[in-house]
Amino acid sequence: MIKRLLFLIITVIIVTLLVFWFQDHPGFLVIRWLGYEVEAQVSVALLILSLGFFCVWGVLGLLKKILHFPQFLKGRYGAHHQRRGLQSLYNALSSLEAEDVKKLLIEGEGISSHWSEKPLETFFKANAAYYSNDFKGATEAFNQLRLYKETEFLGFKGLIKLALKQDQEEKALELAIEADKIYPQSPYIAKFIYQHSLMREKFDQALMMMPTLLRLKIISEDEAESQRAFIYVSEANKFKEEGKSDEADNLYEKALQLRPDLLPVALANASRLIEAGKARKVRNLIEKIWPQTPHPDLVPYYLRTFNDGHPMEQFKQVQRLVSFAPDYPQSFLESGRYALNAKVWGRARSFLMELVERENATAEVYKLLATLELEEHHDKNRSEQWLQKATMAPQTSMWRCESCLKPQDAWLGSCPDCWAWGRINWIGVSN
Ligand SMILES: [Zn+2]
Repeated sequence: MIKRLLFLIITVIIVTLLVFWFQDHPGFLVIRWLGYEVEAQVSVALLILSLGFFCVWGVLGLLKKILHFPQFLKGRYGAHHQRRGLQSLYNALSSLEAEDVKKLLIEGEGISSHWSEKPLETFFKANAAYYSNDFKGATEAFNQLRLYKETEFLGFKGLIKLALKQDQEEKALELAIEADKIYPQSPYIAKFIYQHSLMREKFDQALMMMPTLLRLKIISEDEAESQRAFIYVSEANKFKEEGKSDEADNLYEKALQLRPDLLPVALANASRLIEAGKARKVRNLIEKIWPQTPHPDLVPYYLRTFNDGHPMEQFKQVQRLVSFAPDYPQSFLESGRYALNAKVWGRARSFLMELVERENATAEVYKLLATLELEEHHDKNRSEQWLQKATMAPQTSMWRCESCLKPQDAWLGSCPDCWAWGRINWIGVSN
């Protein structure tokens, strides 16, 4: 703006100076050409010349505009298409989320009528086929997507979803492993490979994914350690079933080194270590984990470490174990159970009644009280009353899958009901 003003001021000054100069030095300009003669004052001639120059400049500008007109129109038209295409894209994305197949197809075509974007059109076509269970069409379209560099991953992900929808778990896993090579940063793929490898008992493949899960911060260092321990136990169980006891023992030991405090690890190792003459080690281990996971199955292993099966001795051994967490309901229950076994009626009654008073009594507690009435007082009526209570009491201690909430007989890596990995936990009596 300032530049223009400066230019104007300078031009006006120069013109004014020229006008004054020509007035001081008047003269004529004569042009003779082809027998014509034009005569004009120098200042007038200059004025005509500059007017002519401005005329030519204006005409040229106009010509330029006329010549660019088709392109201008094309630009306007293009922008219009761009807008309509974008609108179709938004609509198609909404239809995809809504799984509205009909609208998805319409909007997908809408995109391709405004934009010549084949991959985008194929993407929506593939998803429409997927949601309308046209497996053949979807497979073709997702495979097509894999051919374009920009949609290769979308093609893989679609084929994985499609394989799962058709219960082809093995195929889905193979595709995910392939996709991981082109997209190693995907948490979806990493989690998928990990979970599905475990479900299919491909333990090595699952362990191979561990660094990726850590790198992508899907699991913490602590979780990774317990997951590894669980994988070793699961793999060891499998070897044991196949009669490969050396391989199994190796892995049980590895799990024990890693996380001796985990209940499934301790339970899986106890019997093996006792047989290997390491009773003291097992005793220490069980005493250490009792305050965290007072599981009833630990007690028989604990008693085996003393090698004295007399009921009174066993009652004393249990008293020693529960002294590590004396106030826990499971401690009272085990004390009552072994007092009853040793026929120490008074002690048995006080341990079990403590749970009744605390409202921590499970069906098991009432059944033990029923046995106590029968054995101590031969009182069938009273015993029946306790059994009646047992039928109404909740079943609170169990192994249970946290995914499908179904109870299980023992710890397992994969839930046999919903296939979730590492979700079976021991639910003890609440403290
Ligand atoms: Zn489950």
